[in-house]
Amino acid sequence: MLSGTELAQAQQLLALIKKKLTGPLSIMEVCGTHTTAISKYGLRPLLEPLRLLSGPGCPVCVTAAVDLDRMIALAGTGAIVATFGDLLRVPGSETSLEQAQAEGADIRIVYSPLDALAIAADNPKRPVVFLGVGFETTAPAMALAVKQARERDLSNFYLYSCLKTVVPALHALLAAPHGLDGLLLPGHVSSVIGRRAQDFVASLYGVPAAVVGFGERDILLGIAAVLRMIEEGTPGVVNAYPHVVREEGNLLAQKLLAEVFDTAAAEWRGFGMIPESGLVLKTEFASHDAALHFDLPHASVLREQDPCRCGDVLRGAISPLDCALFADRCLPLTPLGPCMVSSEGACAAYYRYDRKKGVAPA
Ligand code: SF4
Repeated sequence: MLSGTELAQAQQLLALIKKKLTGPLSIMEVCGTHTTAISKYGLRPLLEPLRLLSGPGCPVCVTAAVDLDRMIALAGTGAIVATFGDLLRVPGSETSLEQAQAEGADIRIVYSPLDALAIAADNPKRPVVFLGVGFETTAPAMALAVKQARERDLSNFYLYSCLKTVVPALHALLAAPHGLDGLLLPGHVSSVIGRRAQDFVASLYGVPAAVVGFGERDILLGIAAVLRMIEEGTPGVVNAYPHVVREEGNLLAQKLLAEVFDTAAAEWRGFGMIPESGLVLKTEFASHDAALHFDLPHASVLREQDPCRCGDVLRGAISPLDCALFADRCLPLTPLGPCMVSSEGACAAYYRYDRKKGVAPA
């Protein structure tokens, strides 16, 4: 809840933004948490004709179907599979972790990779696999869990890493035709990688951007900063979240990630393979790598889901409202794609907050 002063500031910002908007512009909120916050605060209809498009910043949503199928296969090996709850109902090619659980697989919801480590310590005779889905924000906790597993000799603990990094995805997004006038960059990821690491958005692609926090006022401040750069023709990458994000980011977290992970090509829903965008365990931690220890299905024998347009939503090519299945065949309880499942998913946010507010499709 905003205080009286904050509310007045937010209203001033809103008025300023509306004054600057002389026609339709498209700004992408890269982060799924921003998508949810923008929908929750009702900013989309308030800011029209500005179009706020969601981007590839929901880690569950960008997880490729092939990885979901491998996770479901892992659950069928007799291993204990530990996961964040968001993944449970995401459909793979044919089934989901939730269905596998209903059919008897031992799948446990945890709140931290360290919870999975505790399960491994309690069950020394059974393999325990933690499903690592996330960006730079959650990756350090997973690195710590793997390090601790090695230090404590918990040889039954494995990580299945679908961890991804945001900078290569921004390159993939901006190197293709995109029609975006500006970006709101993710505050949480930026707290780890720093503002400076994203300078290329403006210097290489000429797109103005702001690193943004998650309150109404934070988001409006970021949008106002981007609009100012558009108006002045001076693209840059502004830090509109300076109390959390530093120029260089969190050096300790970066060191931990570099100690445990290498980068490798990774498959993203909506983007395909992006070079150097995945985090895989370094050779010295290979004994904890589920991808090496278990015999998992090969990508080429699996098919991506057909009807769901999450990939287009994640590239900002369409709004969830443009998907013919939205709020029809695809509902939160019967989702056809991850964007309707994840708490950071654009379709879930639009379903919950925007669908009755007359927000215009993209
Ligand atoms: S509404 Fe459902 S089917 Fe359509 S893009 Fe979103 S998750 Fe996929």
